[in-house]
Formats: sequence, structure tokens, C-alpha cells
Amino acid sequence: MSLDSYRHDMEGCSRCSSCKWIPLAQIRSQRWSQVCPSIWYNDFHAYSGSGKLNVALSILDGRTDFDESAADIFYACTMCGGCDVGCKVYRNDIDPTEVFHEARARAVELGHARLDHLALVENMRSENNVFGLPRGNRADWSAGTDLLDANAEQVDILFHVGCRLSYDETQHADLLAAVEILQATGQRVGTSGTAEACCGQRAYECGFDSELHNFGDDMVNRVRTSGASMVAVACADCFGAFNYLYPRNGKELGVPVRHISEIAAEAVREGTLTGTFSNTTPAGVTDHDVDGDTAGAEATGQQARHHQQRRTRAGRHLPRPVPPGPTGRGLRG
Ligand code: SF4
Ligand code: SF4
Repeated sequence: MSLDSYRHDMEGCSRCSSCKWIPLAQIRSQRWSQVCPSIWYNDFHAYSGSGKLNVALSILDGRTDFDESAADIFYACTMCGGCDVGCKVYRNDIDPTEVFHEARARAVELGHARLDHLALVENMRSENNVFGLPRGNRADWSAGTDLLDANAEQVDILFHVGCRLSYDETQHADLLAAVEILQATGQRVGTSGTAEACCGQRAYECGFDSELHNFGDDMVNRVRTSGASMVAVACADCFGAFNYLYPRNGKELGVPVRHISEIAAEAVREGTLTGTFSNTTPAGVTDHDVDGDTAGAEATGQQARHHQQRRTRAGRHLPRPVPPGPTGRGLRG
């Protein structure tokens, strides 16, 4: 897709401002009335969801130069999707964040990428991780485990660890627990070791689509080489990249990608993972599931036509509910 492909979204904005404010009937206080952190912080219409659609249309129509200051408007967005949810109150055929992403990709093409984004992408290109830490240290966390080398041996489950978990020592105890859970399934579990690379999502979010393609090709090849029938991930970003961004960009891993929390929940249900589990948690739990309950529902009318046309950022095109938290649903907070 390109920015030009989203003219309908830009022209379809009705200026209803649902991308700025939660529904009027639900406003209880000024403090909790706003939707968009971008306009809240920058205090100018162009930074809202609607405003960015206006700016993008103005660029398309040649009324605004796509210079660095225009690019900054799109980079000032957290891509939280709040506007997308609000927009769906009245419109189900506008995908604001898709437009914002394409604007970022255009900004990169025009040489307006931010310096900090360029540094991040350079880290990924040189060391295969977002931090720029030595690629040779990526698998240090797994020293002492009996994980298989999925580059040289056939495995059933390829455990893709991800950049953050690989290099953040505070996460390593949890990683080792994840390995125990995977091995409790009785299947052959392996990793790509130091050959594992970033999923590419961070670069894609900054508008560097080609990086997603490069890292995607690498991942597809490693999955095929490993013979795995499933990819397990412990990182939410990787889960989203493999299940949503990859297919959307023509990268099919060809096997299911499941989060460790799903696998753990299933193992507990089936009795292959046993232990002492508490039924209560002292923490409040927010299940951010704007689409999960409805994604599997049959779409009708205009919505159905829209779904056929696009694979959307929020995953509404997915044939099954996005699994936001199978273990979270079991928690009583
Ligand atoms: S995605 Fe961007 S424009 Fe939309 S609500 Fe979030 S910060 Fe605002
Ligand atoms: S919610 Fe959607 S249609 Fe309404 S003003 Fe915002 S972008 Fe436009």
C-alpha cells in the first residue's frame, strides 16, 4: 500500500472529533475525557487523528510540502490507536493509523526520517537487535540450558526470544521459566541462538518497511530450516509482528505463532504443567481487547466490504479473535 491508497480514509473524515474525546455520554470528568495523547501534548489540531488525516490529504493534493516539519507531525503520534477506536464509533471504513504509517514510510523515502530512528535501524542492521549490543551475546541467557540448536537440528517448537528479553538480564529468570514450560510439553524445543534476529517491527513502526521485509525473510528461512511446527514467543511485539505484520506484508511463517502465556494456559488446562497456582492476584488487570471479542464475528454490509479490501492494523481482518490474554482472563484481580 502507499499513502495514495488511503485517499478514501482522508476524505472520509467527518470532523466528528471522536478521535479527540471519548463518547460524550461517557465523560465523567475533564481529566479522563481526552483520547489522544498527541494533541493533548502538542495542543494543535494537526496532531489529532483527524488533523493528521487532513495534513495527509493536503500533502496528496499538493497543498502542503511534505517537509521535515510535516513529517514530525506524524512522528509525534504514539500510534496508540485511540483515534482508530473512536473513529469506529461513527465510521468503520477509516483506518487512521494505517494512514499515519504510510505517511511515515513516505517521510523515510523523502529523507525525513528522524536521527534517533536512523540510529535504531543502524543498530538492527549491524547487530540484528534494536540496542546495537553484540549479536554474539544474544544467546548468553541460555547458557546451561539443554535447548536444541534449531539451525542444525530439527525441532518441534522454535522459541523466538526477541531483542528485549535476550539482552535484559532482569528478564532472564522469566525466560528460563518459559523454557521449562515449553519443554514440559514433551516436544523438541530449540532456538536460533546467536542467529536469531529482531522481528523488524520497530523499524517498520518508524516507516522503514524494507527492514521488516529483510528481517521477515530471515525469520521465514530460519523457521523452515528448523522444521518447527510452531513458533513460540515471549514478546508481545514479536507476537504482533509474526501474526499480523508479516502476513500483511507477504511474509508467511507457515506455522502457528503462539505466545508463551497461551501455551502455559493450555498446559495447565491439560494437566501437563502442574504446580501451585494462586486464584487471586493483588493487582488490577486491564484487558486491552478492543477487537478480540468482535474480530471473529461475521462482518456485514459496508464493514464486510472493507474487511475484504484490507488487512487492518488493529487486526480486524483476522479470521479469529486476537488472543489478548488467555491467562489474563483466568486472573481474578
Ligand atoms: S494513534 Fe496517534 S493520533 Fe491516534 S489517538 Fe494515538 S496518539 Fe492520537
Ligand atoms: S473520529 Fe474519525 S471521522 Fe471523526 S474526526 Fe476523527 S478521524 Fe475524522
